[in-house]
Amino acid sequence: MTARILDGRSLSRQTVEDVRGAIAARAASGRPVPTIAVVRVGEEPASVRYAAQIQKMFLRAGGGFQLAVLPETASESDLEATLAGLSRDPTVNGILLQLPLPAGFEVLRAFQTIDPAKDVDGVTAVNAGRLFLNHGRYFIPNTPFGGLELLRRSGITIAGKHAVVVGRSEIVGRPMAVLLLRENATVTICHSRTADLAYFTRQADVLVVATGRPGLIRGEMVKPGAVVVDFGINVVDDHVVGDVDFTSVVEVAGAITPVPGGTGPMTNAMLLRNTWQAAEWQRS
Ligand code: NDP
Repeated sequence: MTARILDGRSLSRQTVEDVRGAIAARAASGRPVPTIAVVRVGEEPASVRYAAQIQKMFLRAGGGFQLAVLPETASESDLEATLAGLSRDPTVNGILLQLPLPAGFEVLRAFQTIDPAKDVDGVTAVNAGRLFLNHGRYFIPNTPFGGLELLRRSGITIAGKHAVVVGRSEIVGRPMAVLLLRENATVTICHSRTADLAYFTRQADVLVVATGRPGLIRGEMVKPGAVVVDFGINVVDDHVVGDVDFTSVVEVAGAITPVPGGTGPMTNAMLLRNTWQAAEWQRS
């Protein structure tokens, strides 16, 4: 059996098109365009490239884009002042703080300076708490939101399935596990201290992997017919590869997200959608 490929690129394009239509409708009624402010400290090459991708996507969709770059020598209070200023700025609807921050910065503390109403990557305690409680209006972190959307729009049933999430980071694994629970899967979370990882992964109807360990999941660790979602983005010998060994797993799984072209493009599209949503909720 060869797995069905879950094409994140085309679904991402479709999502961007849908949001473009919604932004055009706002513009037609004289409302301001949804605007994202991307903030970074320093010039880490992957962050520079990612910001350029976001800019291109926002401009293509008719949205607004601002970039705030602090020097590598900036302090935590400089960063917090920038985030607080953008939180007050009525022309900004969404704020994305790029990672990694330089050594010595406390990431979770910096996140809390963002106004939860503009926290379009769902990193503040307010949004994470509301997701956990599934209560009220909240923003879901873009990467797991994109992964879930890819499953849903591909017609994959989640309710009643056993989902195994490998990885428990605050921005990918943990919120994905909460989302899958919200969608009525039975969820198991694995991490670096899990004894006998394969014992768990072989039980998964839906296997989600976010570890940053290239090729960690091999074909023999996957249940035949399982749906495999690979969030990994790793550069190996100048090639981008996932956390799943695609060559062996594609022969066993029922469906799989490729890397590149799976969850990555969906992450960007969800940032655009969340920023449009923020503007709507702010009634700007
Ligand atoms: P983190 O390093 O923050 O977390 C990695 C997680 O994987 C941790 O929970 C860790 O466990 C677990 N882990 C590490 N090694 C193993 C192992 N051998 N067996 C089981 N679990 C293990 O990474 P992120 O969550 O930020 O990112 C994960 C991957 O997703 C990366 O490749 C990253 O590049 C990619 N990514 C992709 C995005 C996208 O748009 N698709 C966006 C963001 C990230 P423990 O907690 O015990 O240390």
